[in-house]
Amino acid sequence: MRRFISITLAFALVLSLTACFGPPVDPDTVQESIQVIAMDTPMFISTYGRRSTGAAYASEDLIRALEARLSRTEEDSDISRLNAAGGETVEVGWDTYCLLDQAAFFNAETGGAFNIAIAPVVSAWGFTTDSFQVPSQAELDRLLALTDPRGVSPAQLGDAKFTASLEPGQSVDLGGIAKGYAADKLADLFVEYEVPRAMAQLGGNVLVWGDRPDGTAWRVGVQDPARPDEQNAFVGVLNLKNAFAVTSGGYQRYFEEGGKRYHHIIDPATGYPADSDLTSVTVVAEADPDIPRKNGAMCDAYSTGLFIMGEEEALRFWRSRRQQNRENAFELVLVTEDGRVVVTQGLAEAFTLDEGSGYTLEIVS
Ligand code: ADP
Ligand code: MG
Repeated sequence: MRRFISITLAFALVLSLTACFGPPVDPDTVQESIQVIAMDTPMFISTYGRRSTGAAYASEDLIRALEARLSRTEEDSDISRLNAAGGETVEVGWDTYCLLDQAAFFNAETGGAFNIAIAPVVSAWGFTTDSFQVPSQAELDRLLALTDPRGVSPAQLGDAKFTASLEPGQSVDLGGIAKGYAADKLADLFVEYEVPRAMAQLGGNVLVWGDRPDGTAWRVGVQDPARPDEQNAFVGVLNLKNAFAVTSGGYQRYFEEGGKRYHHIIDPATGYPADSDLTSVTVVAEADPDIPRKNGAMCDAYSTGLFIMGEEEALRFWRSRRQQNRENAFELVLVTEDGRVVVTQGLAEAFTLDEGSGYTLEIVS
């Protein structure tokens, strides 16, 4: 009863305040923002609506809980225990199980380009520890023999019991998909908290939910890969509502040795940083409350995989899948080494080239 009275009083107060100061505030424009550093990435999340504060705090908790499960560097995460198990089976949480399962699916989809079992090779290049080096060919050959994705075996043993195992010597790295998976989980959370609009930027993984308070689309800049350290150096802008947009590129993490640049996206066919004619790949797909939430992870896995494939194969991949269901439809923005921005038909309206960027725009169908 007291609670009822206090709510009534609060309501009366709001009414009287709005009576004094003009029209009532539209609850859908009430905003909360948080910053989180997790998964090695600065993240920014803005939520709107009556429950914007609860949603923002819950978003942070969700990301931290995922990181605790999936991190390769925290000792008791599911992934660390799995990588240290020497081929034994370990118990894992639901999210880890789902991610391993989805990663296997996207590995098959991308013809092996996206492969979480590439971890030993990523480590040999020093990307896990920041002690960069060019491994010898003999070492790469030895490690590549450990990257067969079929060695990764997630299993469901009961309603709420999940396990996973690897072949001895294998390890997995979810860096190419975990942020996309986190974006999928945020979309679930926005449904739960009845968030009418939101924007989540998890490094190169962006989720825009609903529209902006003025009813227009969210504006997602596509970073100019030639100017990675400059804020607002974009090849162009995507105008999007209810969408995941995920960018991968060699410019995001690299080291230089002997005048050569080595980046963090490894081609499982060679063990070397992918020798791509692309400098970045952005994958865009729908984030709709009514469709199953796997598109964030899909965009993340594809952005990594298609970067490795290069322009021609990436476009062939897009064409081969464009007739599929609305649920897993996706579109691309490819930035090429020779200064073109290649945009697939479905984004022709949404993408605006930055005229001052020096790039030329090509729409492909
Ligand atoms: P980022 O997470 O750095 O924004 P990506 O999504 O492209 O960019 O993921 C790159 C990360 O994925 C690397 O840092 C590494 O951990 C991992 N990785 C590298 N090569 C591959 C690959 N071929 N398949 C899957 N993951 C990869
Ligand atoms: Mg990725």
